[in-house]
Amino acid sequence: MKYYSLNRNAPNVSFQQAVIQGLAPDKGLYFPEKITSLTQNFFDNIESLSNEEIAFETIRQFVGNEIPESELKKIISETLCFDFPTVKVDDNVFSLELYHGPTMAFKDVGARFMARCLAYFNRNNPDLHNTVLVATSGDTGGAVASGFLGVKGVDVVILYPSGKVSDVQERQLTTLGQNITALEVDGVFDDCQDMVKQAFLDDDLKSRNLTSANSINIARWLPQMFYIFFAYKQLKKQNKPIILSCPSGNFGNICAGIMAKRLGLPIARFVASTNANDTVPRFLENGKYEPKPSKATISNAMDVGNPSNFIRIQELYHHDLAEFEKDFSSYSFTDEDTKSAMTSIYGKTGYIAEPHGAVGYLGLKKEMEKRPGSIGVFLETAHPIKFPENVEPLLGITLDIPEQIQSVLGKEKKSVKITSYSALKDFLMVQ
Ligand SMILES: *Cc1c(COP(=O)(O)O)cnc(C)c1O
Repeated sequence: MKYYSLNRNAPNVSFQQAVIQGLAPDKGLYFPEKITSLTQNFFDNIESLSNEEIAFETIRQFVGNEIPESELKKIISETLCFDFPTVKVDDNVFSLELYHGPTMAFKDVGARFMARCLAYFNRNNPDLHNTVLVATSGDTGGAVASGFLGVKGVDVVILYPSGKVSDVQERQLTTLGQNITALEVDGVFDDCQDMVKQAFLDDDLKSRNLTSANSINIARWLPQMFYIFFAYKQLKKQNKPIILSCPSGNFGNICAGIMAKRLGLPIARFVASTNANDTVPRFLENGKYEPKPSKATISNAMDVGNPSNFIRIQELYHHDLAEFEKDFSSYSFTDEDTKSAMTSIYGKTGYIAEPHGAVGYLGLKKEMEKRPGSIGVFLETAHPIKFPENVEPLLGITLDIPEQIQSVLGKEKKSVKITSYSALKDFLMVQ
């Protein structure tokens, strides 16, 4: 499989090159040249397939012959080391829980898959070193740290804003050691992001083989299709049109859902549910794409003013707004809406949703009102324990601490404090 740059000013590359580079030299996101539907037989028999078998069928065309079948199966099986249940929350409403992995966020899936692909590509080359450089506002860093821990030939450098991530998130980033280094930046998330961008553009750092591990990287984004298929497998027997609502920040999940539909998955309608960062809902209203600086909300992993995967979604709909609107809705919700959804879900059903999932729930309910006879699924993208300050006082409960979280709480934090780009550069030069 070849990938082209969506800026269309860079050579086409292989899967391997696209994964290693992250972004094309013209700064465009990579996109597959060809998308082939899976067979009807696959969908007819999906209930009899294991998650690993489904994932293999889903991803194989995108990897092509660059990773041998047996090796790809092994990567998939190590990636999918946890469950993806759809839990009934309300009449015809299901939560697809993506938080049963090592860091309790959906980003575990993409991070684990990408790490193992890079390790395979570096297998015969002990001198080749990739440095994965990532800025995090919370969840990405932990998932990347855990997914890449101990992977040979890859160093991971994570930048996070000092004092702006939760205690659990900070420990997930800073306590692992080995090939993972956490740089604690005196600033906000945007400062971390700017430093990372500057490093990618810095010619002096070319020899460091820097790559990104957010959903611009195809090896993090494409495996996010897996669990949309798993949801379908569980909901197929309901025999009703399915609406999928994704609480959206960089729009990686919703874009993966649309890709899944291109592979034939019968999803009737997509809803991108956002917090106050409403660039896409505004676009659907007035046809103008006008990114704004991000606003802080209680669903902070979605505080994104210019969603990086939106360009891929436009490509999937051939940049045709009318075609896009046939499939896709997008709604924005305030923190007040989100809190009252969390309270009412808990009051009515006992289900504990955290702020991101609750935004997904709200978008789903809004769309379902317009489409009676449908069933809906929203992604629950993180475990409530990752946002206890927003969950516990609101619902008047104390959450049990799952084992994955317990194991990092007692560990000692290790970070390197930096205040400027030159400190990051110095650090990367000697790595
Ligand atoms: C990253 C993240 C999101 C946003 O997902 P996208 O695929 O970037 O839209 C939503 N919820 C949580 C908890 C996240 O960590």
